[in-house]
Amino acid sequence: MHRCEKIIGRNNSAIIARLKAHSAGRISIKSIKQEVALDLQRIRIVLVATSHPGNIGAAARAMKNMGLASLYLVNPKDYPSGVALGRAASALDILDNAVVVDSLESAILDCGLVIGTSARSRSIPWPVVDPEECAEKLVTASRQNDVALVFGREDRGLSNEELQLCHFHVQIPANENYSSLNVAAAVMVLCYEIRKAALDYSDSETDNPESEAPGKQTDLSELDNGDESLTEFWDQPLSTVEDMERFLEHLEKVLIRLEFHDPEIPRQLMPRLRRLYSRIRPDKMEINILRGILSSTEYQLDKKPKNQD
Ligand code: SAH
Repeated sequence: MHRCEKIIGRNNSAIIARLKAHSAGRISIKSIKQEVALDLQRIRIVLVATSHPGNIGAAARAMKNMGLASLYLVNPKDYPSGVALGRAASALDILDNAVVVDSLESAILDCGLVIGTSARSRSIPWPVVDPEECAEKLVTASRQNDVALVFGREDRGLSNEELQLCHFHVQIPANENYSSLNVAAAVMVLCYEIRKAALDYSDSETDNPESEAPGKQTDLSELDNGDESLTEFWDQPLSTVEDMERFLEHLEKVLIRLEFHDPEIPRQLMPRLRRLYSRIRPDKMEINILRGILSSTEYQLDKKPKNQD
């Protein structure tokens, strides 16, 4: 697969139609590049157990202002609601298409990168990024994977278990004496950073007069400007949350059989292993290798005669 196909996805028919229009002399390659850079469809915003429907509407409006479209609502307290519709103003389409689910896990199962927001640091330290790094990571990873940014409850934020499903945590460096923003305001700040990261990428495109020539035959390689900052490619898609959850369940089962792990005295073993693997962010191939090692271990344990003595 060409690097550029990885940017836009192999089956992005809209972009391919644009490339044909470029070949026919109707649009410039620069506008196609900007469209690719500003395509934020694979970045989803997840709101967990929001109590006030007005915050859901305001979050939808902030998303639409910043060019995001995918909203997931986990157990919203009072939804659907006229209050949400009122606060969404012209972002009703975002609410119409919002997906309502009953657990954070189901909202992010297919995501390759998940960043959780937190107004304060938690008991087990987790990799923390600032809002700019958060945006750059999301924009970069969204070229190849669905990705999610997760927001918590108005009163209690995200639980430790929910935060541990995330690869990174992001904290908006607000006033130390009052660091907790309204959830929709936090959505606005971080979506603005995402838009800035995408615009920076789009602005960094150098004009290439040759490729700009209307009517020039072109292909996906025209979209490759060699800029690595937001096009950090990997030869495999990242493992998803679902892959990681199944792997960790398998690992725990094998560690119990090996008597390395005692679920009666768990200490922090599994959260620490979760943090280790989520920091590495294995790709799909790597997670399959790890699963294979676990299966071989189980096979050997099955073969070993019990009560050898
Ligand atoms: N009392 C809660 C605050 C919840 S604020 C707590 O201490 O966690 C509601 C949500 O807004 C948070 O879960 C988070 O998603 C977002 N938020 C508020 N302030 C934030 C900040 N400074 N940085 C990142 N996210 C923030």
